[in-house]
Amino acid sequence: MSRVLVIGAGGVGSVAVHKMAMSSEIFSHITLASRRREKCDAIAASVLARTGRVIDTVELDADDVAATTALILALKPKLVVNLALPYQDLNIMEACLAGGANYLDTANYEPRDEARFEYGWQWAYQDRFKAAGLMALLGSGFDPGVTSVFTGYTRKHLLDVIDTLDILDCNGGDHGQPFATNFNPEINIREVTAPSRHWENGTWIEGPALAHKQVFDFDQVGPRNMYLMYHEELESLANFYPEIKRIRFWMTFGDAYLKHLEVLGNVGMTRIDPVMFEGRAIVPLQFLKALLPEPSSLGPTTRGKTNIGTIATGLKDGMQKTVYINNVCDHEAAYAETGNQAISYTTGVPAMIGAALMVTGKWSGAGVFNMEQLDPDPFMDMLGKHGLPWQVHDLPAPLAF
Ligand code: NDP
Repeated sequence: MSRVLVIGAGGVGSVAVHKMAMSSEIFSHITLASRRREKCDAIAASVLARTGRVIDTVELDADDVAATTALILALKPKLVVNLALPYQDLNIMEACLAGGANYLDTANYEPRDEARFEYGWQWAYQDRFKAAGLMALLGSGFDPGVTSVFTGYTRKHLLDVIDTLDILDCNGGDHGQPFATNFNPEINIREVTAPSRHWENGTWIEGPALAHKQVFDFDQVGPRNMYLMYHEELESLANFYPEIKRIRFWMTFGDAYLKHLEVLGNVGMTRIDPVMFEGRAIVPLQFLKALLPEPSSLGPTTRGKTNIGTIATGLKDGMQKTVYINNVCDHEAAYAETGNQAISYTTGVPAMIGAALMVTGKWSGAGVFNMEQLDPDPFMDMLGKHGLPWQVHDLPAPLAF
């Protein structure tokens, strides 16, 4: 009997709950809680129609620690799966400690008033989770998440030493909208407009946002411009794999997306500090979010594929090798299965898998864990079986840039 409480009824929450419902042998009771009950009920109706399973729904403001604790105490879930926003992470971790539940999320904590995300705030919970005998698993999405597990798998099976690691995230999908983000617009725009940062020889090298471009030919997508960016898994990978000399993250963006972003930035619409408008304070980025399409509404029109993976160079049996592990996910196939596009799908499936490994005890421990600290094998095994097949390619040479 594994009772889980999922918080957050966005695109990622929807996929995770659909996938949990499809694995009734692992997840016997599922409750979906979110800020707006109607969003939970719409997902529950879709789950019932697609899988025949009934899930419970609850309205919850997860910033209210007392309310979340009360819900945990009432439901007694083995695990709370946090698929709300990064702002809620610490509050939900507090509620898990107070209510005695394990914790999982897909994005690290970020304060609302500062576009800064780092693991420090959540790693600070190490002793309290350990003392409570509870496990907190951080970053069980695709990136972070699957990319972290790909790195662990590379180190366990493919290379004896990793020298360099590049994470390549390509969304080759087209949603048909002039401008939209494929996950929460506020979080997405804060991430993309931050200065770039990568790890090299023991230090962080910073540069302006979206200034370093390379072209890469992605399998089943084709050549795309990708940009050097900071991404949260760089911090934990640099921490847990000190042998890696250089770790970089690249994401593809189309010219139209970047043009819109530049204009929005220039006119102040991506600001996160409050400005006065007609006598009341508004945050421009939050106002912009209200104007943009909800990511979960893009599913029906999105065509094309995502291709996300890791390229590692290093030594195997004394020989230099370059290995590439990636997954290709089709937006239309993801939509047909769960009613959500591939960005939500590639995040929601790993959230379900991390949850499955925790509730079945295949991944266990007391304290706060990042994905790359755990055995990659059971996770890699489930990825293929639950809709995200992966391939290993030996590349003839390292990346030329
Ligand atoms: P959405 O904005 O679509 O969904 C977030 C959901 O959380 C919404 O239903 C929202 O409610 C709900 N929510 C917001 N605040 C609260 C609150 N205080 N209490 C309860 N519920 C709340 O986002 P996504 O589904 O696209 O993303 C979910 C998470 O996944 C984010 O943290 C995102 O950063 C992360 N992510 C991780 C990725 C990875 O690969 N690791 C990739 C993509 C996303 P309402 O509907 O009322 O607004």
